[in-house]
Amino acid sequence: MVHFVGAGPGAPDLITLRGAEHLRRADIVIYAGSLVNPELLQLTPAGCEIYDSASMTLEEVIEKLHSAHERGLNAVRLHTGDPSIYGAIKEQMDRLKALGIDYDITPGVSSFCAAAAAVQAEYTLPGVSQTVIITRMEGRTPVPVKENLRSLAAHQASIVLFLSSGLLKESCEALIDGGYPEETKTAMVYKASWPEQKILRGTLLTMPKMAEEAGIKNTALILVGDFLGDDYELSKLYDKSFSHGFRAAKQ
Ligand code: SAH
Repeated sequence: MVHFVGAGPGAPDLITLRGAEHLRRADIVIYAGSLVNPELLQLTPAGCEIYDSASMTLEEVIEKLHSAHERGLNAVRLHTGDPSIYGAIKEQMDRLKALGIDYDITPGVSSFCAAAAAVQAEYTLPGVSQTVIITRMEGRTPVPVKENLRSLAAHQASIVLFLSSGLLKESCEALIDGGYPEETKTAMVYKASWPEQKILRGTLLTMPKMAEEAGIKNTALILVGDFLGDDYELSKLYDKSFSHGFRAAKQ
């Protein structure tokens, strides 16, 4: 059995209990060394085989998982954050399926959640935005034309850009071009939940220079939208004049 496990955003105590248990029982772990906190590997038992996938190809990863399966070993494939977001797990699952190897997935805390926690914000602020767009700037990996940043900007929803800090200037320009006002609140969170976490707060116009001065080039998320501000409406959920399935309105 192969267990895909979301390691969480970095802080070792942000892995789930289930994910930690899989690590405690692992005979072999393949972890994404570029972003997974190596401290998590301390949970593995003595003698556990450990491989860093940063320098491996898809074929090499599958080869290791296949050989573990043939030896009857318990394998963990440890991904950063939650594996469903830019995790490249589908291609691994499809290869395992073709080889007749069973697998399951344990979700993790994605970095976009850790970043919201770091800036103490709520993406879905009533009266401001009820939609979160998770996307990236096109780089060496293409983004479908129908999803280019300019067109997504037209919604002026809360936006989280992954994998784009190296193209920050282009990203901010595309968002402005697409309709976000230049002064739209923008934050950058570097290494959310790690001890070296850094937070920058500015606007679409000021962020590229701020990030350059702070020397932030990778492992960061760019958050954009009015949800970073202080204008919003109170929620219906806790509104005393609003009834719902769990509570009647008070007169
Ligand atoms: N599956 C991961 C994302 C992998 S893509 C998740 O759910 O978080 C890698 C990108 O995620 C990085 O380039 C960066 O944009 C972002 N990222 C991952 N961990 C981060 C962290 N702790 N703080 C800020 N950004 C992070």
